[in-house]
Amino acid sequence: MVLNKTRSQIGDGKNTLFWHDLWLGDSPLKTKFPKLFRLCLHPSGTVFSFGFWNGRKWEWSFHWAREFRPHDITEWNNLLTLIDRVNFNPEIPDSFIWTPHKSGVFSVKSFSFEMAKSLSNIHIASFKGLWKGLIPHRIELFSWFAILGKLNTKAKLIHLRIIPPVEGQCALCGCNMETSNHLFIQCPISRSLWCWWLNIWGLQWVFPSDLRDVFIQWLPPHKGAFFKKIWLASFSIIIWTIWKERNLRIFQQKSETIHQLQNLVLLRMCWWIKGWGDPFPYNPNEVLRNPTCLQWGSSKKTPGLSITPYTIADWAPPAENALKWNVDASYHPSSRKSAIGGVLRDSKGNFICVFSSPIPCMEINPAEIYAIHRAIQVSLNCSNTIGNRTISVESDSANAVKWCNEKSGGPWNVHFIINFIRNNAAAHNIEISHKSRASNMVADCLAKQGLNREDDFIAWM
Ligand SMILES: [Zn+2]
Repeated sequence: MVLNKTRSQIGDGKNTLFWHDLWLGDSPLKTKFPKLFRLCLHPSGTVFSFGFWNGRKWEWSFHWAREFRPHDITEWNNLLTLIDRVNFNPEIPDSFIWTPHKSGVFSVKSFSFEMAKSLSNIHIASFKGLWKGLIPHRIELFSWFAILGKLNTKAKLIHLRIIPPVEGQCALCGCNMETSNHLFIQCPISRSLWCWWLNIWGLQWVFPSDLRDVFIQWLPPHKGAFFKKIWLASFSIIIWTIWKERNLRIFQQKSETIHQLQNLVLLRMCWWIKGWGDPFPYNPNEVLRNPTCLQWGSSKKTPGLSITPYTIADWAPPAENALKWNVDASYHPSSRKSAIGGVLRDSKGNFICVFSSPIPCMEINPAEIYAIHRAIQVSLNCSNTIGNRTISVESDSANAVKWCNEKSGGPWNVHFIINFIRNNAAAHNIEISHKSRASNMVADCLAKQGLNREDDFIAWM
């Protein structure tokens, strides 16, 4: 569904699938040229993989399963006419445009509208709480897919004959078939997570057997606007945490304890609360120690609490007509992985863009420079969205910031990147500054997520 509505804008052609993605004309090339698609020897190649640069001229190059017959020639000529018009830009990566909105920028609102159009049998009003922007939109999408039973659970993969029936056990308990309802509701590990959350609020619940009903009946036990948001977000955060744990066990043969899963739920909540713009006074450590402080702002008094609101330098919004990046890098020596993450916010704290990407393995200082570089690169590539707003970049690496702001110096292996930063920061009046780690939680989290990613993730909100 998302893929049907996104169009790729060709840059270097390396992220766009030639036959499957929508990038030329109004339908994917495999639908427009079905005969050629069946003949092509590399049906899942990227646009870039079907040609090469001959000096400054791009030459297309295809390999076919057999020689063309007369009726193939017409299709081939039509395809050639179409692709001959393509203008590559080898300097920038391909970007994706969300077609239902005229700006091309993905918005959850237009997404849910499209969803509503395509799923007439679902009562959309019951699910509007999902689309409040309380959590990153990809997790809103994830929740929506989970509720619709559209996630690729093992039961589904068996049904599609992708894995054999003997491999269908739940990765968490190892006992039952991994259906969506088992994984998210009935599995003892998942159930203990739900019960822990309900216990915090003194609740017990007879769980419905279907995730859709769990969501519909997921009503906050206390009044209060802030707590209502906490409650809505908690549904998605809990199922997301279950899904992440399931993937960790399947794909990395690692696992977290129940206590760690509980902490992850609270930490994710803390990270995403930051984006809501409420003056919530507690830091993540305080929330971990006493989760009931999430009742902040509701009339119900928090029992037995002696928590002082925190005073560490928190994230400060940019000026009215400005946008601010917070970027961070992560380096995991034992797995030899590095990654970067960043979040772009406006003066109201709204998320404008986030990225989370693996990078070649390198130490933390050069990696921090990569993070600053990516933020600037993304800003320059999407100048339409940014308009005339000024850009600043905050990093929690004093070294990286110092090198970017000086005329020389810095690790030799990233010199070309530092030079790119220096030149473009000067040319576009981009300020790069150092801030403490406490104000950089979101970027920190995105960088850590990047360690587990195979490819770049970038999303405009
Ligand atoms: Zn299970």
